[in-house]
Amino acid sequence: MPLVKRILVAGGAGFLGSHLCERLVEQKHDVICLDNFFTSQKSNVVHLLDNPNFELIRHDIVSPILLEVDEIYNLACPAAPGHYQYNPIKTMKISIQGSINLLGMAKRCNAKIFQASTSEVYGDPEVHPQPESYRGCVNPIGIRACYDEGKRAAETLFFDYHRMHKTNIRVCRIFNTYGPRMHPFDGRVVSNFIRQALGGEDITIFGDGSQTRSFCYRDDLVEGFLRLMNAPDDIVGPINLGNPGEYSILELAELIIEIVGSKSKLVHRELPPDDPTRRQPDITLARKHLDWEPKVPLREGLEKTIEWFRTIEMEHYRPPTP
Ligand code: NAD
Ligand code: UDP
Repeated sequence: MPLVKRILVAGGAGFLGSHLCERLVEQKHDVICLDNFFTSQKSNVVHLLDNPNFELIRHDIVSPILLEVDEIYNLACPAAPGHYQYNPIKTMKISIQGSINLLGMAKRCNAKIFQASTSEVYGDPEVHPQPESYRGCVNPIGIRACYDEGKRAAETLFFDYHRMHKTNIRVCRIFNTYGPRMHPFDGRVVSNFIRQALGGEDITIFGDGSQTRSFCYRDDLVEGFLRLMNAPDDIVGPINLGNPGEYSILELAELIIEIVGSKSKLVHRELPPDDPTRRQPDITLARKHLDWEPKVPLREGLEKTIEWFRTIEMEHYRPPTP
């Protein structure tokens, strides 16, 4: 029987966090889900509320909180450009002050702590695909910087706690991930295109659509989280988690139109500033240290995601509020 741990999932009501909570509850751990519902809703975890191994706390990680835990996953941060640009100063505070609060908790409880970092630390990369050793090309004063620089500073804090206090840390860099429970109005490419295709609306391609992204299915990614958290203590990261399949935004649009069987037309809109031109993870380290690689092909993952989008009531999802 594996050891039952008390595990805090900050941002646990979100798209990735709610799936992580499910996996941890299935493993019989005692799960504390902490969330301020800035970009999520209770419905993501309502099915877990009756489970005696699950509890839900409404709290903002920018303020300290006193809990006794064995492990902490820090996923609390708006992830989509439209969400993190809503209040960029708050976004930076979440990554920095929020991380300091959770790292302080980890230090006090001697708990292992995991940081959901991002491929955005690579900015608009000059190296392709991106290995963890690449230090990135981020515009520190651009409109994406609140997120990119916040996550970079959070990585710094994690490694300084590790060096100074021997805190047991895990840092992963997540590449674009999609799947059921992603926020339908987060403005990201997968949710926009699926909504537009299902509604027969024009598909909005920003720029010429030649920019690329690598899309990882939610279940694959969360499996990577668990493997990294449970890896030997010398595997602290940073470690890339993402699907190395690289697609242009035009290819993605065409695939979604085909799966939905939609009559939507492609229209071009202005490319937002600092939009990275290419992105693809080098997952050599994840393969080697975690024996991990994604299993779900893009078409299959999109089919599942589209099925989920067909079942939800869109008006149930709120735009982010402070
Ligand atoms: P999400 O917006 O669904 O989840 C974030 C959760 O954190 C939400 O439930 C939100 O309400 C909560 N939250 C935000 N600010 C908070 C605060 N101050 N205090 C407490 N809770 C707060 O997004 P997601 O896609 O599930 O992302 C989870 C994590 O993974 C984030 O840290 C994000 O930066 C990272 N990430 C995600 C992706 C992706 O493609 N989904 C890519 C790179 C990194
Ligand atoms: N994008 C697009 N149409 C949309 C939304 C996004 O063409 O309706 C583009 C966007 O410009 C970017 C890519 O899709 O090049 C991925 O954008 P997303 O916001 O999903 O994630 P990120 O840029 O953070 O990777």
